[in-house]
Amino acid sequence: MAIADKPECTPRYKVLFVSSELYPFVKTGGLGDVSGSLPKALKSLRQDIRVLIPAYPSALEKAKTIKPVATINLPEEGFPGNMGFSSDIGQIPYVTILETKLPGSHVKVWMVEFTIYNRSGGPYLDDSGNEWIDNDRRFALLNYVAVEIAMGHTSLDWHADIVHGNDWQTGLIAALLHLEKKKRNAFSIPASVFTIHNMAHMGIYSKSQFEALQLNPSLWNHHELEFHDNFSFMKGGLVFSDRVNAVSPTYAKEIQTEEFGYGLAGLLKFRNERLSGILNGIDMQEWDPAKDPMIHKNYSIKTIKNKQLNKIALQKHFKLPLTRPDHKDILLLGMVARLVYQKGVDLLLEQMEAILELPVQIAILGSGDAKLESRLKQWSIKYPKQIQLQIGYDEELSHLIEAGSDAFLMPSRFEPCGLNQLYSLRYGTIPIVRDTGGLADTVIHASKEHITLNTATGIIFHETHHSNLFDAVNLTATLYRDKTVWKNLMVNAMKQVFSWRESAKQYLDLYTQAIKDKKADDY
Ligand code: ADP
Repeated sequence: MAIADKPECTPRYKVLFVSSELYPFVKTGGLGDVSGSLPKALKSLRQDIRVLIPAYPSALEKAKTIKPVATINLPEEGFPGNMGFSSDIGQIPYVTILETKLPGSHVKVWMVEFTIYNRSGGPYLDDSGNEWIDNDRRFALLNYVAVEIAMGHTSLDWHADIVHGNDWQTGLIAALLHLEKKKRNAFSIPASVFTIHNMAHMGIYSKSQFEALQLNPSLWNHHELEFHDNFSFMKGGLVFSDRVNAVSPTYAKEIQTEEFGYGLAGLLKFRNERLSGILNGIDMQEWDPAKDPMIHKNYSIKTIKNKQLNKIALQKHFKLPLTRPDHKDILLLGMVARLVYQKGVDLLLEQMEAILELPVQIAILGSGDAKLESRLKQWSIKYPKQIQLQIGYDEELSHLIEAGSDAFLMPSRFEPCGLNQLYSLRYGTIPIVRDTGGLADTVIHASKEHITLNTATGIIFHETHHSNLFDAVNLTATLYRDKTVWKNLMVNAMKQVFSWRESAKQYLDLYTQAIKDKKADDY
């Protein structure tokens, strides 16, 4: 039984949750969703949790009430280097901490206000899609501030028991806490947990950038931050955190292999005993077909027929021919994704000709790699009655695609957890997924056996070999024609529960473990 199931012994921690994204303030992908949901679930388990993100202008715009609550002076020498705030006017450089709440909750959010965050564009990219050239400094500063707050070195009158970092943008936190241990009583330092949402991005920067940040030179060795003559933020999180987890059990195993470990598989294997996998949940209120205000017609298992009205609304949106009684067998496939190699868009492109010979329509929303976007566009120009594409980011349309599609395409080459297949299940939209990461952990393949047992929830294919995606879509189209089988699939899918509460209990156990491990290490 999880600790959090026993009310009499539920621990109560002060948790600083640090992230570069936080829905609804700033989101480019799943990390934003997780940061917007997990802290709420931990709060409902009575944890004293605070979320820390940079004060991007777009995030500030979305915060209804926000107020400054503290300032933190930056060191003029030593990490995090000269942050470009001129001190020659005699002013000590400082950041301002702004406080707001996560909408619909009592979770306090702290935003770090400083000149290097104050620009239009995304959290990682400028308006033209190029990486900010000072991302190392932008996130090093976030890490520095996190440590100051966690250690209780600010006027916020708060310190952390646990600092929970997420992905490379927070990887230096554990390294800095490790340095703090050398300066003061190690027992006074908070424990650290680091969650891997995607190993593909490791925050790799050069030696000169390491020096410009004025990071402690002792960290420059291949057991610590150095990574093939550069250094990696992500590596800091993996080496120094008391506990590390990936966002699904399968991904936690996969990253210990050469194929998925990006050169750090050996390190992860070495830290295997401190590494685990916890599946993401979904925000069951935000993604609820029975109440979702962003879809055309609400529905539940009992009123599942109404899902069809969303299909028609989606076809109208994309100007695809409407499903008429004599066209009942047209399977509408939806896809919402970053259009990048990871998501298997090229697999879909390779198989498009064959797939479009099946009785299917395809509705895609996404943006990403310009070449992949333009190749998809070409197909939609050639076969406008079968495939349509909307380039860009559109939260509302993503909900309608989940509600209106019959099946959802997710042929990812790797998928740490994946959220869209979970949204699809909740909306009775049958996910077609590759056998990897969280996809493998959350979808039950419609094999003969699972159909007989009535436990199937989706279609899983095994290899990236191109014909297999086609086979999967072909199987889906065949199953779709059998209305009884299809309805069972939809109902089974909608019955799946991936609530954050369950995952949050596992995170709470992880925090307890991290504190224990740290204590044992400190002795
Ligand atoms: P990743 O984090 O790798 O992008 P996930 O499936 O974990 O993939 O999460 C993606 C999240 O971003 C989902 O909530 C998905 O609906 C959303 N998303 C991705 N692209 C778009 C888009 N173009 N418009 C709206 N939402 C999108």
